[in-house]
Amino acid sequence: MILSDLHETGRTDTELYAEIAAMLSQKEISRLVGIGPHIKSVEELFDLETVFFDSTADFISAFPQLHFSQETILVKGARKFGFEQISKLLTQKVHDTIMEIDLNAIAHNLRYYQTQLSPGVKLMAMVKAFSYGSGSFEIANLLQYHQVDYLTVAYADEGIALRKSGITLPIMVMSPEPSAFEAMLKYKLEPELYSFEILNAFIAFLPQEQKDYPVHLKVDTGMRRLGFEEPDLPVLLKVLKDTGKLKVISAFSHLAGSEDELHEEFTLGQIGRFKAFAFVLRNELGYDFIRHICNTSAITRYPDAQFEMVRLGIGLYGFDSGKPDTSDLQVVAKLKTTVTQVKRIAPGETVGYGRRGILPQGGQIATVKIGYADGYRRSFGNGIGMMLVNGKPARTIGAIAMDMCMLDVTGIDVHTDDEVIVFNEELTIVDLAAQIGTIPYEILTNISQRVKRIYFYE
Ligand SMILES: *Cc1c(COP(=O)(O)O)cnc(C)c1O
Repeated sequence: MILSDLHETGRTDTELYAEIAAMLSQKEISRLVGIGPHIKSVEELFDLETVFFDSTADFISAFPQLHFSQETILVKGARKFGFEQISKLLTQKVHDTIMEIDLNAIAHNLRYYQTQLSPGVKLMAMVKAFSYGSGSFEIANLLQYHQVDYLTVAYADEGIALRKSGITLPIMVMSPEPSAFEAMLKYKLEPELYSFEILNAFIAFLPQEQKDYPVHLKVDTGMRRLGFEEPDLPVLLKVLKDTGKLKVISAFSHLAGSEDELHEEFTLGQIGRFKAFAFVLRNELGYDFIRHICNTSAITRYPDAQFEMVRLGIGLYGFDSGKPDTSDLQVVAKLKTTVTQVKRIAPGETVGYGRRGILPQGGQIATVKIGYADGYRRSFGNGIGMMLVNGKPARTIGAIAMDMCMLDVTGIDVHTDDEVIVFNEELTIVDLAAQIGTIPYEILTNISQRVKRIYFYE
């Protein structure tokens, strides 16, 4: 642990640091780096390996001799100690491609959508696909802390992982496979039931004595992907009424074009069909359930369709293609990599596989540590993609390789180990998506698992 003096606690140094020392030994922390005159003055209180510095600057100059390796480091400091310099130093030790996730920005975006809800409307957060590439437990834990009502994952495995790391919120599983039913019961995961096959299989699986297992019914109102349809209602109702094993917690549908004004009439049609379906279901079942149809864009575009709950996905990560102006949202993810080598290229030389990259006048290139296996798609190659090298835009040159690619950095002052921005708040994921004709969802979820995620939270 790297810890600074703590100010304005209203307690004496001895009292405060004795308590911290007790916590450190209780949590079996192996090493303490204390920074500041106060913590240093009570060094005898700490019964573990310690090293103390008067200031952050002293720590930074001693850094090369401190040999951090194979350690999990908690960095905690009062504002004025400027510990962001330390986290920067520590992350730079791994000259690697990293994705920084700003948890405060996620909390901000969540709050924004919460303010857009009518009173009493619940919020389900979509954390499928590794929370849109941003990490599962870290995001789910934050959402749990900020009191969202439900989490949704795509597969049971994702839900099990969340339960194992201590998430207690209700979790819906969108693709519940029969092979995972047992685990779903064990970990209290709630299936989305979208067809008679899956409905009957789940009923058959549940033990005779099971009563009211919470389930969610998916209704197809126009997406033409998954879900029960209007003509299925009589049989669906019969099955639900004949079994006492299930309790419909919610019925929901998914909009195919909520972000686009072009599809407004169609969207209103979907909402109308959903409402009618839920009305019959409610009357026949004789009990209330939660109705939900809004994804991110629909929350603000179709506030009358918020019903009892909304499903927030990409908005959490700072994108909403239904909003002409997204200044209410904050950027959550930054992807950074580093320069591994800089080279001079003579006129007529070719760069990379297939020899597609050419600088007719010659120039300078930088090889950077990100490739298609990290999720930087091959379609970014040959000048289509752009990164920021020391703040300056630099286009790709030649083909994107598996673990690296090359940038044309002619005229830019650049050295080995310099930081390269793949995306951030300036060069956005929306820009990248536009470069290769895709959507932010795909850019985000493509970032592969080998790219380290680093979380910030203040
Ligand atoms: C992914 C998903 C959402 C969230 O959509 P966003 O556009 O990311 O808000 C909502 N509902 C369902 C069924 C989904 O699969």
